[in-house]
Amino acid sequence: MAKIRSVAVFCGASLGAEPIWRDAANALGHGLAERGICLVYGGGSIGLMGVVADAALAAGGEVIGIIPEFLRRREVDHPDLLKLEVTDSMHSRKLRMFELSDAFVSIAGGLGTLDETIEVLTWAQLGLHNKPIIICDVAGSAKPLLAAIEATVTMGFAKPGIRDLYRAITGVSAVLEHLGSI
Ligand code: AMP
Repeated sequence: MAKIRSVAVFCGASLGAEPIWRDAANALGHGLAERGICLVYGGGSIGLMGVVADAALAAGGEVIGIIPEFLRRREVDHPDLLKLEVTDSMHSRKLRMFELSDAFVSIAGGLGTLDETIEVLTWAQLGLHNKPIIICDVAGSAKPLLAAIEATVTMGFAKPGIRDLYRAITGVSAVLEHLGSI
């Protein structure tokens, strides 16, 4: 695997109930920029998505936002991005984020974050890509998702090999370290 130059971050368009998730998004944005890794994300300025982008920009990082036209008002497209791509649908947004990224990091979020994370996993399961997928647990945020993935194996609906399609890592600094080691 070539050096990771760009990472798509999947995270909430809300801040979540605990400040620890905001801190994690901040550390992730900052850490990516510090390592010269381009942040690819959903293009909004609200929630953890806004926090990760603000942190990367403040640290001098490259940030590419991808947002569908119909969400520009709701997710408040980020005013400071040098690169903002506007797509015509959620599907083309996810495809562009996929195309522009060498790896994926999922941190805390809602249904959209779960959807984006599961989609890159299912594409990997189908052999459509082998880009690294990192599920970052911060204060238990990833536990339900990891349990759901594991349950698909124990119930016989997925092969044990799907466990090799992603890496579950606790904490943002370990994620950054791992990205640097790939
Ligand atoms: P959430 O985790 O629900 O706060 O959403 C995080 C991001 O995922 C936001 O930019 C949402 O617009 C996006 N999102 C929401 N639903 C979907 C979906 N079905 N497919 C892809 N992205 C979504």
